[in-house]
Amino acid sequence: MTDEILSPALRAEINTVLDDAGVHADRRLVMRMLQTAVLLGEDGTDRLDLKIASAALSEMRDAFRLFAPYRDVPKVTVFGSARTAPKDPLYIQARDVAAALAAEGWMVVTGAGPGIMQAAAEGAGPALSLGVSIRLPFEEKANATVNEQEHVVAMKYFFTRKLMLIKESSGFICLPGGFGTLDEMFELLTLQQTGKAEPTPIVLLDQPGGRFWRGLERFVQQDLAPAGVISPGDFDRVLITDSVDEAVSAITGFWRNYASLRWVGDRLVLRLRSAPTDAEIAALNERFGDLLSRGRIERTEPLAIEVSDKDELERPRLVLHLEQRSVGGLFRLIGAVNALASAPKD
Ligand code: AMP
Repeated sequence: MTDEILSPALRAEINTVLDDAGVHADRRLVMRMLQTAVLLGEDGTDRLDLKIASAALSEMRDAFRLFAPYRDVPKVTVFGSARTAPKDPLYIQARDVAAALAAEGWMVVTGAGPGIMQAAAEGAGPALSLGVSIRLPFEEKANATVNEQEHVVAMKYFFTRKLMLIKESSGFICLPGGFGTLDEMFELLTLQQTGKAEPTPIVLLDQPGGRFWRGLERFVQQDLAPAGVISPGDFDRVLITDSVDEAVSAITGFWRNYASLRWVGDRLVLRLRSAPTDAEIAALNERFGDLLSRGRIERTEPLAIEVSDKDELERPRLVLHLEQRSVGGLFRLIGAVNALASAPKD
């Protein structure tokens, strides 16, 4: 696309710029970004659109740089109301769950604002907190915890911010909140339902005895599923709880044995931490056969494309033909894999 439109002379000049800057890795991709910028200019793109594109790109760079040193540290994002006061039991719950996950070696990502965001950052402590704040017309700056070690990046747009709040995390905890929190929660559900994001644990956490999420659950079960606008199992993957311990187990336990997945054509490869036994694979087939569009769940060596990408080659693998829309089923299968006797212990 872009490659074909720009003149060869301009492409040569861009190549010279990249040589001078010493950019060699992933050069085609960097080239494409520069070409797109030139083409946006050539197109006479509207000034506001140019501002959006340029701010998005430079803020993404800032955010990637903030996150890059922590690539190998597991991260959980905590969402929740910006309005929760420090004496509120929900504030304490958010602080406690963040502290418990930090004690297990997790970093806690938040929107860097007040309320639940501040509580979670405090619970994790400055060293294990990352904040992605938003510049709002009427809001104060990022909370003190994420500011302390400059673990914060400020974004102009919600869409780039949401990308960073979601992209690097291996678990999500939503505490009660308003439009912002619900928007973030539904974004998570949509990304997973459509397969745009890999499966990750999602916990809706309340204060002890709290019933905030039960209305949503009722709405999903009594209205959304019967109307046919979601599949009945789509919400099963979400844990609703008022217990910090349960929330932590749901997040860490999701990754006990399951490590990652990859679609190769219509085959789904599950990468595990421990190799399952023949008897365990037989039992998985017995239990999950109805999720398969054909064939059986089988042990496999890395597939050709995985080998050429050097994609987690050391891990044991299972391969299956999963019914495309069975996202709830995939979560149940991951849960079963994590519960195998051969799975690593905590
Ligand atoms: P709400 O539930 O409407 O209070 O919105 C909270 C969610 O929206 C948080 O998880 C944030 O990501 C975002 N948000 C809303 N207000 C702010 C704020 N003042 N600072 C940072 N993030 C905010």
